[in-house]
Amino acid sequence: MAVKVCKFGGTSMADGNVIKKVKNIIDGDLTRKYIVVSAPGKRYSGDIKVTDMLYGCHAELMSEGNIKESFAAVRARYVSVVKELDMNFDIGSVLDETEERIARECSEDFTASRGEYLCARIVAEYLGAKFIDAEDVIFFDEGGALDGAKTYKAVAEALAGVERAVFPGFYGRGANGEVKTFSRGGSDISGAIVARAVNASLYENWTDVSGFLACDPKLVDSPKKIKTISYKELRELSYMGANVLHCESIFPVRKANIPIQIKNTFRPADDGTSIVPTARYTPSGSTVTGIAGKKNFTVIFLEKSLMNSEVGFISKVLDILTEENISVEHIPSGIDTMSLVIESACLDNFKLGRILESIKNAVEPDIIRVIENIALIATVGHGMSSSVGTSARLFNAIAGAGINIKMIDQGSSEMNIIVGVRNDDYEKCIKAIYGEFFK
Ligand code: ASP
Repeated sequence: MAVKVCKFGGTSMADGNVIKKVKNIIDGDLTRKYIVVSAPGKRYSGDIKVTDMLYGCHAELMSEGNIKESFAAVRARYVSVVKELDMNFDIGSVLDETEERIARECSEDFTASRGEYLCARIVAEYLGAKFIDAEDVIFFDEGGALDGAKTYKAVAEALAGVERAVFPGFYGRGANGEVKTFSRGGSDISGAIVARAVNASLYENWTDVSGFLACDPKLVDSPKKIKTISYKELRELSYMGANVLHCESIFPVRKANIPIQIKNTFRPADDGTSIVPTARYTPSGSTVTGIAGKKNFTVIFLEKSLMNSEVGFISKVLDILTEENISVEHIPSGIDTMSLVIESACLDNFKLGRILESIKNAVEPDIIRVIENIALIATVGHGMSSSVGTSARLFNAIAGAGINIKMIDQGSSEMNIIVGVRNDDYEKCIKAIYGEFFK
C-alpha cells in the first residue's frame, strides 16, 4: 500500500485548534501513516515560537543558573494546547521531567529540541499513534552530517508493524551520544529522512501557504503560483532564499525519487506545489519557473594577465579561503579575471584584510578589488535552456529598469542565471525580471 509521510510545520502546531485540523487531515487519508511535527509556532504576529522561547531558556540557564522564569512560559503554551484538545494527558509530569533534564544536560541543542519533543508527545497521544523519539533513530556522524545508513535502518526497524507513528522533527543523536539539532527549520529534513527510510510514495509537507510562488509576494503583487517544480529548480530557489522548505530537505528524498507535495493546513483543498524528480518533470511551458534572491554579499575581484595559463592560480586562492574557513558561494571567471562571491556575514574587516593580504602574497594579482553590499538574484527554470534569447530578455529587462549588473554567473546546467546587483537595486531588479517573464 502507498505510504505517505506528513510533516506539519510550526504554524500547523501553533495551538490546540489547529492541531484539530491536522487530525482531520490525517484521518482523511489512511495512507497518511507517519507524521513528523515541528514545535508550536506563532499563533499571531508578534507571538513567540516555542523554539525561540527555548533558546531563551538556555540563555537564562547560562546566565542565571536556572530556567524558572523562561520555562514557565513554555509550560503555559503546552498546558493550553492539551486543554484546547480536551485531552486526558498528564503533560505536567512530562514538563517536569523535561525541565529537570534541560537543567541537567545544560546543552543548547538539547534545550531547543524539546519544542518538537513535547509537541510530538502530545500529538501522538491525541492521534492514538506511537511516539518514536528522534534521538533513538536519527543519527549524525563524527563530522556532524546525517549518518544515513544507520538512520534509515533504525527508522525502518522502529516502524516495523506500526500502523501510525509520530516523530519529533529537528533533532537526532550526535556521534558523542548527545542530542543534536539540524539548522533552524530542520524538521523539514527530519520529514524527508522518515520518507526515505520507509520509501514513502509521497512526502507531504504541510505548512501555512498553498505552495511556492514564482517570486516573493512582498516584492510583487500576487505572484503566480508554481504548480510543479523539479528538485533541481527547488534547490536553486530555496538556496537563494525562497524559504517554504529547508534547502537541505530534498537530499534524502531525491535519492529515492520520492516526490514532495507542499500543502496548506489552513486550506487543505488547495493543490499546493508538487516537487518532482528532475527526470519525471515535464516543463509547464513557461521559460522561467521562479525568481529568488538574497542580499549582503561581498565580491573579491581579481585580475591578472595570463591568469588562465598560470597553473594553480585558482587553487592557491581557494586554499586561502579554506584556511580561513570561508565558503565561497560563486566563482564567476574570465580568462584573466576571477571573482569570489562570499556571504558578507562570514567576513569582518579584520578577516577580509587578512584574506586580501594573503591573496596578494600568494598570486600577485595585477588588480584586487572588493565590492560590498551586493545582492544576488537567481532566475531559474528548465525552460531556459531550450528557449532562445532568454538571457537577452533578462539583461534587457534589468537594463530597462536602469540597473547596473555587477556580476553574472550562469550555471552550467543552463537552468539558472544569477546576477549580482547593488543591494539598493535588489527589489527593483526582481520586479523587472518578474515583469519580463510573467506579465
Ligand atoms: N522548531 C525549529 C525551528 O524553529 C525547527 C523547525 O521548525 O523545523 O527552527
